[in-house]
Amino acid sequence: MLAAPMGHAQEAESMDASLPVFEFHSGFWVNLHHFLYHEARVKMAAKEDAATESAAPKTDGPVLKQSATAASALTPAQQKLWEEAIAYYMANYAGKDLLINIDLILLKNQLGDFEDCTELTGKKQPRCDAGLPGKIGPLLESVAPIYRAHWWPDHDRANRRWVVRVAPLVREQGVGLSEKLADIYQTRWPKERIRVDVCAYANAGGAYTTLDPLRVTIASTDLRNQGPEAFEVLFHEASHSIALPVEAAISRECKQRDKPIPRNLWHALIFYTTGEVLRPIMRGTPAPEAEKGGGDAAPKPAPAPVKPNIVPYELRDILTQRGWEQYHLLLVLYWQPYLDGKVSFEDAIAHLISAA
Ligand SMILES: [Zn+2]
Repeated sequence: MLAAPMGHAQEAESMDASLPVFEFHSGFWVNLHHFLYHEARVKMAAKEDAATESAAPKTDGPVLKQSATAASALTPAQQKLWEEAIAYYMANYAGKDLLINIDLILLKNQLGDFEDCTELTGKKQPRCDAGLPGKIGPLLESVAPIYRAHWWPDHDRANRRWVVRVAPLVREQGVGLSEKLADIYQTRWPKERIRVDVCAYANAGGAYTTLDPLRVTIASTDLRNQGPEAFEVLFHEASHSIALPVEAAISRECKQRDKPIPRNLWHALIFYTTGEVLRPIMRGTPAPEAEKGGGDAAPKPAPAPVKPNIVPYELRDILTQRGWEQYHLLLVLYWQPYLDGKVSFEDAIAHLISAA
């Protein structure tokens, strides 16, 4: 019944360590954490739906088809432990935002740091005492064997497959793109490679980035992160860390004009910029492949329909909110000339803000 524990060092090594710009991880504990968070939110949403008698259950975003839920294969004792863990997440975390809640950010980072450990409380190995607050350490340990036996192999495989697919572009274009984006934002790309925790599930957006330390979390099974969007989401998320000069310039210009800072304008700007910078590269990128077994073969560069304009998923969503169509137009009119080298950064932001 006991699943053979995987060699964690071996796992870590098999992630492509030679890639530039990004350092990819498929960590056991961060994956378990995000999966429990996801399951708790699904359950919470179902409860709310039942309460309001609304028909369609809310989920956290479109997800690739996973192999049949393993929950039915759990013994009653395992089922109980698993339910308890989900209940704990519902009570303590599911109502909080992974992106901004400090407890969740610290927990996520710590779980990432302890990915090479098979425990978190240091009972067997003192170096594996993560010093986690409250009951979360023992709780995660209690369901670790269940997750490892029933879900982790699929999740880990999906993560690795995702990395294998973005790896060729990262290797060929990563350095050039990171320098280009840093130039655009008038800053420097971080010297260290950016840690990316690839997880079966992330937040409702499918990916998020936390700063100090800079870490990106990306959901490998999220439909919005497949194909060309996989590469785009990587650079969009990383841009969060280097777009601070843009945010600063926007707020400076607003202050000078006594204008309120247009909500999400900086975010729209980095969506737009990533899309524009990646567009030439994305021509000819193969469409998402059908699921296949192995996953170590690099995707064959097959001719794909040229995307006339990448409208990233999040932008598409936000476009429906008031103001966003306006932002897109403003960016085309006043930011694009800067990307084309026709006006300075300062002038572009000044024009953007006076028109906003
Ligand atoms: Zn973003």
